[in-house]
Amino acid sequence: FTSAIIGTLVALSIIALVLSLVKVEDVTLPPTVKYGMVFDAGSSHTSLFVYEWDSDKENDTGVVSQTLSCDVQGPGISSYAYDPPRAGDSLRECLDKALKVVPAAKQRDVPAYLGATAGMRLLREQNSSVADQVLAEVTKTMQEYPVDFKGARILTGEEEGAYGWITINYLLDSFTEFSPKAHTWLRPEVANIFGALDLGGASTQISFVPEGSVLNQNEASKFTLYGYNYNIYTHSYLCYGQNEMLKRLAKELIVASAPSTRVCHPCYPKGYNETVRLSAFRASPCTDRSDARLPAGDSTVTLEGRGNASGCLAAVRELFNFSACGQSRDCTFDGVYQPPLRGQFIAFSAFYYNFKFLNLTEGQPLATAREAIEQLCTRSWEDLSSSYPKEDPKRLPKYCANANYILTLLLDAYKFNETSWKNIFFQMKAGSADVGWTLGYMLNLTNMIPAEAPTRVKGHMP
Ligand code: AMP
Repeated sequence: FTSAIIGTLVALSIIALVLSLVKVEDVTLPPTVKYGMVFDAGSSHTSLFVYEWDSDKENDTGVVSQTLSCDVQGPGISSYAYDPPRAGDSLRECLDKALKVVPAAKQRDVPAYLGATAGMRLLREQNSSVADQVLAEVTKTMQEYPVDFKGARILTGEEEGAYGWITINYLLDSFTEFSPKAHTWLRPEVANIFGALDLGGASTQISFVPEGSVLNQNEASKFTLYGYNYNIYTHSYLCYGQNEMLKRLAKELIVASAPSTRVCHPCYPKGYNETVRLSAFRASPCTDRSDARLPAGDSTVTLEGRGNASGCLAAVRELFNFSACGQSRDCTFDGVYQPPLRGQFIAFSAFYYNFKFLNLTEGQPLATAREAIEQLCTRSWEDLSSSYPKEDPKRLPKYCANANYILTLLLDAYKFNETSWKNIFFQMKAGSADVGWTLGYMLNLTNMIPAEAPTRVKGHMP
């Protein structure tokens, strides 16, 4: 019996010794990298963005980086209305590329989204069952891939604007501000929050935090981000994207000189001609609306460039119904409400592309921009095409109209002026990520922007 007790005591002391040697501590696992992907199915083209972030930082601002962007070959998905399966097939090349940058073991956890914008909004207006078929086909393709497919849908214009605004301010770290002195998180200066200006092919969006409240609830979006409430004004103008604008401009010029089949185009360069079919105008809700002024039949019309800078600006202005605002100051055009502008803005997408071409993205004053645009508009096609041999010959003749359109939209519609012009920054990237709605969309749907204030000091704080 005694030897049994001694044996037990010895065994217990050995266990105690082993336990004292093995110090049990909290083990912090190394952070793992997570991924997400979003297709931006725009009116003129589709892009895929793959993002990555450290799992232990996912609720902090500015930690998501862009791993990959991939341009889908061919036109936007709404252009496959006549053959929806091709819309699905068009995505494969970029999906294959995306799977090459995400380790195989993580692919099944990658949330994957597709958001379609104004091109699909227009197709749905024209033929909702065909729009549904296109969405069903892109869904089918994405579901064939080993990712966590979360859905393919058409964003509202207001979502598109608001997610662009979130993307910008997330990337520029304007949602959180730590005071090293007070050792606490402060309410970020509203002056540091940027507004967003997005010009797509079929629609354009403006989003910003106004001074007072947003009077019209249709244009109001509310978010609670990192402990603070934001009431943003956001409006999307369908048919005011640059491709639809160009179509509307051509239609108005044709109607004004009907039944002539040769029509002067003030914005196209001298020596440049474009032949268009009248049926093309009937194919889009932006130019059709059963317009009785459009000549009957399906003849062709030749648009002859005139290179007339002031004529171009005047013709572009005609595309806006400014008189619908009457004397109201808080109104852009078509009777659309907009509170007074506030703060700084990032102008991206086609705002950036056109101004980049004109070398106007370095903070040039408004007078310089006007001059550069006027000069561009008077250059002949021969001069332009030989001066810019690398430029896409389809885009080159359109920069004059696009640039005048941008001026009219920013100055006459949104009411920027000589002074507030300095608050517009034309840029397409923040850090190494592209600016657009996709990142904001993913952050929101994966709940990566907490409603609460940050709880810990970030690494880069002093
Ligand atoms: P979305 O496809 O809706 O994003 O449209 C973007 C707009 O920018 C379309 O009108 C395109 O034609 C235009 N765009 C895209 N890339 C360029 C570029 N490199 N230069 C000029 N315009 C562009």
